[in-house]
Amino acid sequence: MPDFLGPVSGFGVTFGAMFKKRLTEQYPEQKKITAPRFHGRHQLNRHPDGLEKCIGCELCAWACPADAIYVEGADNTEEERYSPGERYGAVYQINYLRCILCGLCVEACPTRALTMTNEYELADRSRASLIYTKQELLVGLTDGMVAPPHEMYPGTEDDDYYRGEVTAAAPGTTTQRPARAADDQDGGPSADSQVAEPVRAEGRS
Ligand code: SF4
Ligand code: SF4
Repeated sequence: MPDFLGPVSGFGVTFGAMFKKRLTEQYPEQKKITAPRFHGRHQLNRHPDGLEKCIGCELCAWACPADAIYVEGADNTEEERYSPGERYGAVYQINYLRCILCGLCVEACPTRALTMTNEYELADRSRASLIYTKQELLVGLTDGMVAPPHEMYPGTEDDDYYRGEVTAAAPGTTTQRPARAADDQDGGPSADSQVAEPVRAEGRS
C-alpha cells in the first residue's frame, strides 16, 4: 500500500460500517421485546379467589443451584388462611445477586405458584434492594379475588383448587383479620439476615 494512504486507510472500516445494518439499541428509551418464554423476574401466583398458590414446601429452594431462594412455611388456620390446604409460604425471598435465571425453581414447584415474567430490568444500587421479598414477588389481585387471609371457597378441598374448580371468591368472602402485622408475613429477621451473604474474594471490597 502506498505510504500516502496510510493515514486514511483506517477510515475504510468506518466507511464500510456506515452502510451496514445498525446494531445499536436505544435502551432504555426503546425496550427490547423479549421472547415469550424469556426467563425474567419471578412471580408468585394466586388462585382465582386470591388465595396464594405457594404452600411453603421449599422445593424451589432445594432445586436452586445458586442457593438464591429462602422459604419458610407456616400453618394455615381457619382464622388466618393464606392458601388452600395445610401450609403457606410465610417468608419468601429471592436473592437476585445470586440468581442466574435458569428456571429450575419453576420446574420444581408442584403448584405452579412460581413462574417467571419477561421483566429483565433487575439492576439496582444496593444489595438489600436486590433481595426480593414475598410482597414484591406476589402478583396483584384481579377481578374475582379477595386479599388473603380468607376462607377457602365453601364446600371445597385444596384438590378442587388444583383441578381449577374454583374460579372466583365466593360471594361475601372477606379478608380475615391477621394475627400478625402484614409486614411480619415476610419474616421476622431482615432480608439480609435471612439470605446468606455472598462469598467475597479476599482483599476485594
Ligand atoms: S432461576 Fe435458577 S438460580 Fe434463579 S432462583 Fe430459580 S433455580 Fe435459583
Ligand atoms: S414456590 Fe412452589 S416450590 Fe417454592 S415453596 Fe412455594 S409451592 Fe413450594
